[in-house]
Amino acid sequence: MARKRFGQNFLTDQGVIDHIVRAIDPKPGQAMVEIGPGLMALTQPLVERLGHLTVIELDRDLAQKLKTRPHLQVIEADVLKVDFTKLSAQNHAPETLLRIVGNLPYNISTPILFHLLQHVGCVLDQHFMLQKEVVDRMVASPATSDYGRLSVMLQWRYRMERVLAVPPESFEPAPRVDSAVVRMVPLAEPPKLHFEVLHDLVQVAFSQRRKLLRHSLGGWLEMRAHSPHFDLQRRAEEVPVSEYIELAQALTHGLGGEI
Ligand code: SAM
Repeated sequence: MARKRFGQNFLTDQGVIDHIVRAIDPKPGQAMVEIGPGLMALTQPLVERLGHLTVIELDRDLAQKLKTRPHLQVIEADVLKVDFTKLSAQNHAPETLLRIVGNLPYNISTPILFHLLQHVGCVLDQHFMLQKEVVDRMVASPATSDYGRLSVMLQWRYRMERVLAVPPESFEPAPRVDSAVVRMVPLAEPPKLHFEVLHDLVQVAFSQRRKLLRHSLGGWLEMRAHSPHFDLQRRAEEVPVSEYIELAQALTHGLGGEI
């Protein structure tokens, strides 16, 4: 019986499962972590190819079953409380980067993405099944209705691409929404900035996305006694990621902060 509170929609379409596994392209010995393995739809083909897999499952009954399977390290926990940097250091040599995958519980997918952002330094890549609308927002370009806080906060740090669209019938029980698989690869040379500065700036900018930025960000920038060369006669959704990055960097320097 699927538990709604754990966002349980189990993948049953073998064609979709094969497509996702091919997109992930697991190689023997790679350090992989699966979030929410559930009934092992992805887990089984992944562990067959990898030889060993770490899984994080919150549902106690599912975790008990997983613990009886060979070649799996089962972490029975809430993924939002897992320290991936520590996990990587415990399991692997310091230079090893983790590959993270999962058909995520949709009710907490954005918190999971932000949680993983804190551990991006130990990640090689991420492949996630998410609600289609969330993937649309992740990969959106400026001046589109999907472009928002999630787009900026992820695009400044990852290269992202949509891999596959997945209809509700591919799951049991079928979710009420369409789904999609996204690939996220951390940028090799990320811009140097203070995460909190970018985070606060983007939050304020998009707090009133229909209004010109001078009404939202204007006051916020004045409080920081900073007058950057930044056009406030635009809406938040018109500003490209690169300009948010530049502004965050200018603000960090303006505060006398180090980056
Ligand atoms: N991977 C399986 C599949 O594709 O059929 C199950 C995917 S289901 C959408 C989400 C899974 O995440 C469930 O197994 C659920 O129990 C687990 N889960 C839900 N919340 C979680 C959390 N906070 N931490 C870890 N796992 C969680």
